[in-house]
Amino acid sequence: MNTIDEIKNQLDIVDIISESVKLRRSGKNYIGFCPFHANTRTPAFVVFPETGTWRCFGECNEGGDIFRFVMKKEGVDFREALKMLADRAGIQLVPLTPQKKERNEREDYLCKLLEEAVIFYRHQLMYTDAGKKARIYLREKRGIKTQTEEIWELGYAPKGWDASLNYFKNKGYPVKDIIEAGLLTEKQDGKVYDRFRHRIMFPIRNMSGQMAGFGGRVLDPDDIPKFINSPQSILFDKSAILYGLDKARKPIRSANQAVIVEGYFDVIVVHQEGFQNVISPMGTALTEVQMRMLKRFTRRFIMALDPDAAGQKATLRGLEVAREALDHNSDPVFDARGLLHHESRLQADLRVSTLPDELDPDEIVLRDPHDWEQIIKTAKPIIYHVLDSLTAGQDLDDPKIKSTIAAQILPLVKDISNPVERDAYRQQIARVLKVDERALFNLAVPARKSRIYRKKIQQTNGQPANTAPLYFNEQEKLNMVEREIIAYLIKLPESKYKIDRFLRSSGLNHLTVTDFVSTENQHISKIIFDSLTQDDLDPVDYITSSMEGESTLTVINHSQPPKTSEEEKNTELRQLEETARLVIQARQLSVNQQIKDFRFLQSSRNEDNNMEQDMVLQERLLDLIKIRGLLDRALSKPVNIE
Ligand SMILES: [Zn+2]
Repeated sequence: MNTIDEIKNQLDIVDIISESVKLRRSGKNYIGFCPFHANTRTPAFVVFPETGTWRCFGECNEGGDIFRFVMKKEGVDFREALKMLADRAGIQLVPLTPQKKERNEREDYLCKLLEEAVIFYRHQLMYTDAGKKARIYLREKRGIKTQTEEIWELGYAPKGWDASLNYFKNKGYPVKDIIEAGLLTEKQDGKVYDRFRHRIMFPIRNMSGQMAGFGGRVLDPDDIPKFINSPQSILFDKSAILYGLDKARKPIRSANQAVIVEGYFDVIVVHQEGFQNVISPMGTALTEVQMRMLKRFTRRFIMALDPDAAGQKATLRGLEVAREALDHNSDPVFDARGLLHHESRLQADLRVSTLPDELDPDEIVLRDPHDWEQIIKTAKPIIYHVLDSLTAGQDLDDPKIKSTIAAQILPLVKDISNPVERDAYRQQIARVLKVDERALFNLAVPARKSRIYRKKIQQTNGQPANTAPLYFNEQEKLNMVEREIIAYLIKLPESKYKIDRFLRSSGLNHLTVTDFVSTENQHISKIIFDSLTQDDLDPVDYITSSMEGESTLTVINHSQPPKTSEEEKNTELRQLEETARLVIQARQLSVNQQIKDFRFLQSSRNEDNNMEQDMVLQERLLDLIKIRGLLDRALSKPVNIE
């Protein structure tokens, strides 16, 4: 028996769920109100002890085993749920390698040291004369209540060079360990001194609430830098930690929205005022790792940025360089290009809200919590936000200005991997700049074109590729989507099964040759599907040999999405999800087209057409509308293939 089954055997699902859901017995099963959706009238949540599963037949229409329940309820990932339930069942999880075991022990040891540091700094803040200034500052200048200070375990690192050094040495910790925990700095000549001096201390915990490091903010405005964080260590990886996530993850899940601010005080004060779905990166730009962490709880992210950072200043010039350069600075860099890239790869909904009156989030929420609510509510998709800040106060009748703005914003749009979204953005930009989409393209730097379009366009109108219109007609758009689906399937034909399963779960038919509108695409898709029903060759080899000599193959290789080096597996899953989404989008495009066609047909018919024909048409139209509904619904939520 594997560990997972062993845990399931040891634990009673009814026991576990009863802890948070009031269950009533009904025959062999138990019924209650679903804890995951708001409902007080119909109990739609059923626990099946026999199979060890649960299901919400209401709004969620979701179910699973105890792991799934704990993951959803506690807002943890599978690994953590496994840990929690294994603990509870008294089962030892898989034996560790000696190296891993050693590392775990080291981590535990350093964690313990940091927990002691939390107490040390807290003591300094609360009970020493030196800490008094910091106490007053927190209360009077930052509006932080005593209880908030306790919850966030704020502290004070005293002046001088050896307060914490001596404290931990006296406690018996070797100097090298105190250095490794990030509390001391070692100079080149071997001298060591306190890393944090005369600073407000923010303990930084990882998502599970374990100590990872500290952030230290100056008290004396003349001190620099304004913020120091713990150095990179086995506990502290600033690209993978979000300040406040240990406290915010449940609220993020229930609000289905994460708000990203730029400072520790902002997180604390906004939480204090009742908005607990707020976190902050560690003084750097939001990374994809962080977004992926957040994605476990929601896919809706809102960045609350101060107007300066969100405006032209940091947004559109030398973004990568700026990020590198400012890496050690306190302020994260708003990097529209990077964010858009993450957003599209992660299928996230990333919005930006600009804060008014040069205020920080903590100042706004202290002034009036309703303002905060309003600001978050009116957040805009990043690209529109950038467009707004580029066009603000500009004369949009001046062709030169239009051209400059287009040149700045179009490269960002180019990075969006989803062709349908990309198109929508381009249309919006054309509208705002009051230019024809074709003209818009001529104004701007050309986007990277896949070979297929270059070829097509050259064939059709003889123009060079870089004057091709940005916006293709519906047919062209559909073809583009189909191409991306095929490019993916050629690489991983077996993923058709996963896509089919996903489609079925959305009430849709599985992927067939008829999903592809162009004959060429139908032809290739047939080869792909055939590769799955033959036994002579590996599917990929089958496809390759069947397509040998067909020009399309080379074209398709070119249209493959760029690969990232990190986390191959995640990339594959993302691409799979993206492909499944494209399948639905392709259907949507084609169904919409068919409906349009039907309507046209109807409106152009004569009175003398017989009723029967009408009925058939009517029925088919209804069918299409029904399918469109299913497609819309499938697209309204993130595609999740796991
Ligand atoms: Zn439910």
